[in-house]
Amino acid sequence: MGYKKFNCPMCNAGCGLLVEVEKNKVVSVRPDPDYPLTKGYCCPKGISLGAITNDQDRVRKPLKRIGDKFEKISWKQALHEIADKLNNIRNSYSPHSIAYYLGTNSVHQYAHSMFAVGFMDAIGSKNMYNAGSVDNNNKFVAQNFLYGSSVVMPIPDLPNTDLLILIGTNPAVSNMSLVTCSNVMKVIKGIKVRGGEVYIIDPRRNETARILTKKDDEYHITIYPDTDIYLLLAMINIIFKENLQDDDYIRANTIGYGKLKTLIKDFTPDLAEKICKVSKDDIYRLTRKFAKIKRAVIYGRLGTCLSTFASLNAWAIDVLNIIAGKLDRPGGAIFGKNIINISRLGRIIGMGGFDSHRSRIGNYPDVMGAFPLGILAREILHNKNPVKALMISGGNPILSSPNSNEFKEALEKIELCVFLDFYINETANFRADYILPTRTPLENSNAPVYLLNYQTYPHLEYSNAVVGTEKYGPKPEWEILLSLARLMKVPMFGSALLNSIPKLYKFLRKEFHPEFFIKLFMFLGQVLEKKIPHLSSGTFSLKKLKEMDTVLLGDNEYGVLRKYIQTKDKKIALLNKHLKEQILTCKESIQKKIEELEDLDKNSNEFLMIGRRNLKTMNSWMHNVEVLWRKKQEPELFINPQDAQRLNLYEGEVVWIENRLGSIKLPIKITDEIMSKVLCYPHGWGHKNPYLSFANQHPGENINVLTDSHKLDKLSGQPVMNGYKVLLKKIE
Ligand code: SF4
Repeated sequence: MGYKKFNCPMCNAGCGLLVEVEKNKVVSVRPDPDYPLTKGYCCPKGISLGAITNDQDRVRKPLKRIGDKFEKISWKQALHEIADKLNNIRNSYSPHSIAYYLGTNSVHQYAHSMFAVGFMDAIGSKNMYNAGSVDNNNKFVAQNFLYGSSVVMPIPDLPNTDLLILIGTNPAVSNMSLVTCSNVMKVIKGIKVRGGEVYIIDPRRNETARILTKKDDEYHITIYPDTDIYLLLAMINIIFKENLQDDDYIRANTIGYGKLKTLIKDFTPDLAEKICKVSKDDIYRLTRKFAKIKRAVIYGRLGTCLSTFASLNAWAIDVLNIIAGKLDRPGGAIFGKNIINISRLGRIIGMGGFDSHRSRIGNYPDVMGAFPLGILAREILHNKNPVKALMISGGNPILSSPNSNEFKEALEKIELCVFLDFYINETANFRADYILPTRTPLENSNAPVYLLNYQTYPHLEYSNAVVGTEKYGPKPEWEILLSLARLMKVPMFGSALLNSIPKLYKFLRKEFHPEFFIKLFMFLGQVLEKKIPHLSSGTFSLKKLKEMDTVLLGDNEYGVLRKYIQTKDKKIALLNKHLKEQILTCKESIQKKIEELEDLDKNSNEFLMIGRRNLKTMNSWMHNVEVLWRKKQEPELFINPQDAQRLNLYEGEVVWIENRLGSIKLPIKITDEIMSKVLCYPHGWGHKNPYLSFANQHPGENINVLTDSHKLDKLSGQPVMNGYKVLLKKIE
């Protein structure tokens, strides 16, 4: 028996864990008190990694659907049959008739997403979809416009700021999501400890607000969902009107400033008050404070991402930081240090782009090579040359796609559906032809190099797999995809050069491993990034990293915009034609928005719906982990006491929630945590699935039967999953 060190790959935080293993079985998982970044902190998800690996419901052998059952088959049979079927579909229709959906589970395993993209390149299909399109692709779009690269994302300088404004984000349960900051709430609390301030703008007094603010104090500002853009533009407007902008910074680093000022002048604080339900006094006070405090930053996330003007929201948040002179400065929005300048590399190799091709349905641009999940069902149902085969790895789109019923209808039309997963999730139960078992996080070695740009405390980490898998058992996704590409006789990555690397290993009778690419990154880093400690010696290697587990790369730096920005003139492009068009669309929709909200006020049982997360879940999965859900807590629909009283509802009552797309029954929880006329229910539930035995006992409901696959942000294709209208009806 012994403890092995491991970094949790479930979210960006990468908490240090100690995993107790006996005879190749996980006995326990606990936080590692000696891990330098998290020092004994981790969330419940990290502790439960062992329970996932040991789960009896896991898929451990390839499965094939025969009749209405799944039967075990050999890897050889599974891979040959799938390769033949994919080739038949590719030859009978076109390469684009094969689509791939990469779920959230892929995000934190570098080789998973890299090889999925390589596999689609090998096939020659552009029909790639990912979970980022129901999460954060709007941010990548905004970054591309402003800085010329989707991977240049400023992060809040949390350890050094004096004023943090959080809009639509709840770090107490999301760990700040895209931003990599170990034990982030400790760091955020530190702002207040040193006399700084933290404002939370959210329709709900969320977990972060409950920790950081007192009830009804000024630091939690409620806002109607899907109205953020009116607030953000009003804030920009105030900065201009009151001459609070940083002229020197703007002159030196941006273009398009004058046009921007004119374009947004109608988005006034009065208008924002009317639409957002935020008092204009609060808007003025917050904006002035933000502009005047030197070390200040505004950061927005999911609440602002899943909305009508998602890309515009992400852009406006960055514009506030830019014009107020907070970008690239201590305590503001900064660029994370990386072992290699990934934005420059991306420009050279064509990665991190936007709009390199367009979807056939809806004419949506790709974001970093992927189309919006919201159009996938229509690509299957309505395209002249429809998708005929769908590969899904680490994803459960019936629960995470907008308009789940449409998605189900689409799945019934395809000829082949292949899953790479360690569970039979709801989507696989509904439609998988084959399920290829993959490894759980503890069974994979990992080095999260993709997170390096977003780190509050720059570091490199490496985790060895702590338990092994049996010879003909689960395999990593990259290995499965490489085998399929070989059997299909298509060149992995679609590039002769990259494809020659695994071939060369074979020729040398050496085992290929994607760690080759990490070594390549580190080598390039040593050649190009001479200032980074460890790398500067020129002798740092993956072998050394493995010995050290974690290597600190020194502090993030300021004044590095020119190094990372990829626009031709090295200036931030505050405006372009897409943004201008969206601002004008937003302006034209003002009257309609006001009327919609007036209707909301008039109709007693009409509400705006928002989602929420839970520290114990990872979107649609982890509900089968019994140790996390001992009390079988199914989610409840949050409703404000005023609304409950008006509609004569009692605690725990089950009500109908419906719109034109569907209806579901939900139990209510009456709480003043949520603002009046807003309802809140988390996504990712609805586990009516015998293959997840524990989750099946406390299924919850799938809220995405109510979200609309036609209501997508024009620029990123992100669906409106916050602030859509529903009706609440009593069950008589
Ligand atoms: S915060 Fe939780 S999920 Fe994220 S890395 Fe740490 S233990 Fe894992």
